Amino acid sequence: MKKNDVVEVKIEDIGTSGEGIGRYEGMTLFIKDALVGDTVKAGIMKLKKTYGYARLIEIIEPSPDRVTPKCELSRKCGGCQIQALSYERQLTFKEHKIKNNLMRIGGFTEEQIDAVMQPVIGMENPYHYRNKAQFPIGTDKDGNPVAGFYAGRTHSIIPVTNCYLGVDVNEQILQIVLAFLRKYQIPAYDEQTGNGIVRHVLTRYGFTTKELMVCIVINADTLPHAEELVAELTKLEGMTSISVNVNKKQTNVILGDTVKTLWGKSYITDYIGDVKYQISPLSFYQVNPVQTKKLYQTALEYAGLTGEETVWDLYCGIGTISLFLAKQAKKVYGVEIVPQAIADAKNNAKINGITNAEFFVGKAEEVYPDVVRQMQERGQQAYADVIVVDPPRKGCEESLLAAMVQMQPERIVYVSCDSATRARDLKYLCAQGYKLEKVQGVDQFCHTVHVETVVGLHRKDI
Ligand code: SAH
Repeated sequence: MKKNDVVEVKIEDIGTSGEGIGRYEGMTLFIKDALVGDTVKAGIMKLKKTYGYARLIEIIEPSPDRVTPKCELSRKCGGCQIQALSYERQLTFKEHKIKNNLMRIGGFTEEQIDAVMQPVIGMENPYHYRNKAQFPIGTDKDGNPVAGFYAGRTHSIIPVTNCYLGVDVNEQILQIVLAFLRKYQIPAYDEQTGNGIVRHVLTRYGFTTKELMVCIVINADTLPHAEELVAELTKLEGMTSISVNVNKKQTNVILGDTVKTLWGKSYITDYIGDVKYQISPLSFYQVNPVQTKKLYQTALEYAGLTGEETVWDLYCGIGTISLFLAKQAKKVYGVEIVPQAIADAKNNAKINGITNAEFFVGKAEEVYPDVVRQMQERGQQAYADVIVVDPPRKGCEESLLAAMVQMQPERIVYVSCDSATRARDLKYLCAQGYKLEKVQGVDQFCHTVHVETVVGLHRKDI
C-alpha cells in the first residue's frame, strides 16, 4: 500500500475525533467522515508504520446507523463531527468512549465499570441547544461582508447564518449586522493584514428568561454608526444587552479584555434550576443549559448532601456548581483561577441571597492546600465532607489530588469533559482509598464527539 492508492475498507470503530477506523492489509486506517458500519472506498493520504490516514471517496455500503445530516455543511464545518450518525448511536459511542478510557487508562475492569455506569443522558431534541454562538465576520471575493463558520481546521469562512445547534434568532441578528456593515461600508477584519474593523459577532440567549445579548468584537475603540445598529437590533424581541468588545491584537483568541455596553444592561440573566446567573460577554457559562441542569442535578445527587456538609468546589468558574449545591450544604468554598469569574461567582451568590458560599481566586492546586492549612492554624474547621472538581481538559494536577486525598472527604464528585484525563485521575484516587460509586455521562454537546461525565467516588473505609 502506498500514498494515493484507493482501497476498500469496512469501518469497524470510531476514533476519538469521530473518524472511522478500519483495517487494510494489517494497517489501521483513519478515515474522516466514514462511519462505523460503512464499507467505503478511500484514498491513502499518509502512511506510518502500522497506521495511516485516508480520505473518504465513496460510500459503497452505508452503515445502518448512517442518517442524512440536518445541516448540509456538516462535513465542511468543523463544529459537528458525527451528525451523520443516528443520535441513538452517538450516545452509545459516547458511553463506549467513557468506558474504554476507564478500562485502558484508569485500569478498571469491565465488571467494575458495568456495575456503576448508567447510560448517557441524551436530549429529547438534540438541536438548537447552544445558548452561545460566535460567528466570524469576513469578506467574500466580491468584497461583501459574510458571517459564517471556519471550515474545519482552517481559517476560511463558510458563509452561513443559521446553525442547527444554535438558536434561531442568530440568523436575524447576523442579517441585521451584515446589512449594517454593507450600508455603512464598515470593513470586516482581515486576519492576514490585521486591517478592518468587525471580527466576530457573539450572541447569548437566556433559555429560561428569553433575554438576548449581542456583542460585536471590533479591531477599533469604537464602532462607527453604532447607534444605527442598536436601533435595528433593539427591534428583536428579548434584546437586553448590546455591546462591543475591543480586540486589537492579531490573534486567534476571539475576545479582547474591554467590553463597552452600547445599549441596555452589561449582562443577561439566566437560570439553572432555581439558581439565577448574570452572564456578561466575557463570562464562562455552560453552553447547553438544558443538559447542564441534568449534569448538576446528578452532581448534587452524588454529593449526597443533608445540609450539614462542608463542600469544596474546585475549578468553580462563575460558581455555577457551588451555588447549585449551596442550598443543601452547610458551607461551600469555591476556587477558580480567573479573577473575573470569581467576581461573577460572588455577585451570583449575592443576587441569589446565598450567604454560605465563599470564593477564592487562584490555582486549585495552590489555593486549596493553602487555605486549608491557614484555617487549621486559626483553629477553624477546614475539613471537607465533599469535594467537587470540574477541571479543564488537562485534568487535575497530581499535587491537588494528593491534597484532596489527605483531606479524606467522604465523597468526591469528579465532573469533566475529558474522559482520558479523568480516567487517569480516577486511577490515582482509587489507588488512594476511594472507590467508584457511580458514572453518568450527560450529552451536553450533541453531534460532536465530546461528552461530559459525572463520577461519584466514596471513601472505601466508610
Ligand atoms: N465548574 C464550572 C467551570 C468549569 S470549567 C462550571 O460548571 O461552570 C473549568 C474551570 O477551571 C474554568 O473556569 C477555568 O478557568 C478553571 N481553571 C483552569 N485551571 C485552573 C486551576 N489550575 N485552578 C483553578 N481553576 C482553574
